[in-house]
Amino acid sequence: MTTLKRVDVHVEGVVQGVGFRPFVHALARRLGLAGRVHNDVNGVHIEVEGALAGVEEFLTALERDAPALSEIERVTVVSARPTGHNGFTIAAGIPSGPLRPLVRADGATCDDCLRELADPADRRHGYPFINCANCGPRFTIVRGVPYDRPLTTMAGFGMCQACAAEYHDPGNRRHHAQPTCCPACGPRLRLRDARGTELCGDPIAGAVTLLRAGRVVAVKGLGGFHLAVPAADERAAALLRGRKHREEQPFAVMTADLAQARRLCEIDEHAAELLTGRARPIVLLPRLPGAPVAASVAPATRSLGLMLPYTALHHLLLAELAEPMVLTGGNVSGEPIAYEDDDALTRLSGIADAFLIHDRPIHVRADDSVVRPMAGEVTVLRRARGYAPEPLAMRWPAPRPVLACGAELKSTFCLAEGRRAFVSQHIGNLENHETLRSFVESIDHFCGLFGIRPQIVAHDLHPGYLSTRHAKEIHGVELLGVQHHHAHIASCLADNGDPGPVLGVALDGLGHGPDGTLWGGEFLRADLTSFERLGHLAQVPMPGGSAAVRQPWRMTAAYLGDDHAGLDVARRNPWADALRLAPGSPLTSSAARLFDAVAALLGVRDKITYAGQAVVELEQHADPAERGTYEAGITHGDLLVVEAADLVRAAAADLAAGTGTRAIAGRFHNGLADAVTRACDALRHTTGLTAVALSGGMFQNALLLEATVARLRAAGFRVLKHVRVPPGDGGVSLGQAAVAAARDRA
Ligand SMILES: [Zn+2]
Ligand SMILES: [Zn+2]
Repeated sequence: MTTLKRVDVHVEGVVQGVGFRPFVHALARRLGLAGRVHNDVNGVHIEVEGALAGVEEFLTALERDAPALSEIERVTVVSARPTGHNGFTIAAGIPSGPLRPLVRADGATCDDCLRELADPADRRHGYPFINCANCGPRFTIVRGVPYDRPLTTMAGFGMCQACAAEYHDPGNRRHHAQPTCCPACGPRLRLRDARGTELCGDPIAGAVTLLRAGRVVAVKGLGGFHLAVPAADERAAALLRGRKHREEQPFAVMTADLAQARRLCEIDEHAAELLTGRARPIVLLPRLPGAPVAASVAPATRSLGLMLPYTALHHLLLAELAEPMVLTGGNVSGEPIAYEDDDALTRLSGIADAFLIHDRPIHVRADDSVVRPMAGEVTVLRRARGYAPEPLAMRWPAPRPVLACGAELKSTFCLAEGRRAFVSQHIGNLENHETLRSFVESIDHFCGLFGIRPQIVAHDLHPGYLSTRHAKEIHGVELLGVQHHHAHIASCLADNGDPGPVLGVALDGLGHGPDGTLWGGEFLRADLTSFERLGHLAQVPMPGGSAAVRQPWRMTAAYLGDDHAGLDVARRNPWADALRLAPGSPLTSSAARLFDAVAALLGVRDKITYAGQAVVELEQHADPAERGTYEAGITHGDLLVVEAADLVRAAAADLAAGTGTRAIAGRFHNGLADAVTRACDALRHTTGLTAVALSGGMFQNALLLEATVARLRAAGFRVLKHVRVPPGDGGVSLGQAAVAAARDRA
């Protein structure tokens, strides 16, 4: 007779609402083990007994084969006395405290569901809302906790007998899959014309007929509405661009599968993994020469944002269309994307010719996420659908719960409690009422979902940011102002689980400096609690203040001054006016304004239509193979100063000498990377610090990031860069939260 072994196992992490109990049940049965499994306050509790080898195999397989949507944080195993009972059961969870299962991000349709979708014999054949415990909508349909059907936007759909049987069967893939449904009981797809009248016939076939005719079709997705046109149709893409008032910002393209994607972009193994992963972000990739994509889809860029279908509706639509399709946010430029039916029908009525719509409400707006492979790794540039609201593990706990309100552009907020940081989905630029409302409502929603009541509220030092003003209106909490660039570097430290101190290089647009000037090209000594400014790019005036942000040529004037009035950029623009304004204008050390100056100098961009445009286009214009460089002087006073004007003057001299603008743009990138490296080297001598953290929106530029990382490493530095949160302002909230938590621990 074999000796019996019994263990009590506690599993913590994302293990509720993800098919974990059925998985445990099936595993125990397969190994001939007895016992039971149930949800409890903090995860899943298992009692299991049987032969020693079986129990050991059970413990190994528990982590190795866990369901796709689960994320195990900790497994605790305690030996117990065997009972000799037979059978394995799933017991009802009887929580003894507040139940806080983590709500997961929405996940792409899984392979099992895709097989059923394509199987004519399956009852969900061709059904656009097929999902299971391993895939489908989550965060975007959850109205509250506990995560259970009545508190999702599926509450209005009563399950049919067949669905209910699957839902209650512990051995079924749809056991406790809250959004499960079928054609008999679930949401229905409809096609409506621009006035909202339902069109008869098969909605997908109807939508495809319209797309082929060059019409714009609004498609209701997981986290909001998209606008679609065939990607190769120049007339349709230009029409969409005109109607959206989105003059130049690139559109994303969805392809049916990897094979179709490979006809558009260079896709290595790493990119393929990103494209086919559960989160299904937009992946920024190098576009192939001659790729069949209309010029208006992504003008002035060599790359293309690609994504693969993440709902059954997308799969069906692309299979029918049989060619790549532009899928861009359903909004007028500058507004948040529409996600409620009535709002979409109103706001998009002048843009879309038809609406492919359904009756499952979206509770939470979530844009598509954007990631970019850079410097051998991937960096998240926009963290939203597929990633939010999953917590980022923090290496050090927050003693008291923190709310960090973020910055203003590309805004996010962050709730931190214990070792978990919940960074919100990308909310957008907090400059209009609609976005601010979404920001405030999302904070309440997150606090409710995760049961967090903030006691500390962190915010930017800029008094005019709506996020700062919101923070100051919250009563009964401790307020903490965190300097913008300190937050950037702290965000990079938190992203890497590094306590610092490091040399922080923060290159971005504009941030409020404690000295009253606009910072944005900063060298800091920073850890999680404090920072000291060690150096910066030399300050220049921004002629006309914010007008200089919209008109990069003004920065060229500020950098080059009078004696360059013969340049093309000076002749194209009212150069003398800018020079006259310069003396009384605000001073800045911003790296973005430096890029602006060079972009306008080279004729790449005199005026912008979206934030960061000149920076993006200068990178895309540059020859990545260029090895030449420019040298910027470095002066040492109280602070180290990088004479960035040297780079602009060298570029102007090359231009006058007839050097090609692509080579000049490449040399400028290399020159800035050189200057950053030499500045860090000088600061290493004075501080003894040998690690550098790179943050700020300029490090979304792959050419600059890669050139800088390579030079710093060659100089013997350890380099920290962003991975899980954006280097740009979307990552600032995590940095603020990390600073607040660290000061609270101190
Ligand atoms: Zn599935
Ligand atoms: Zn059903």
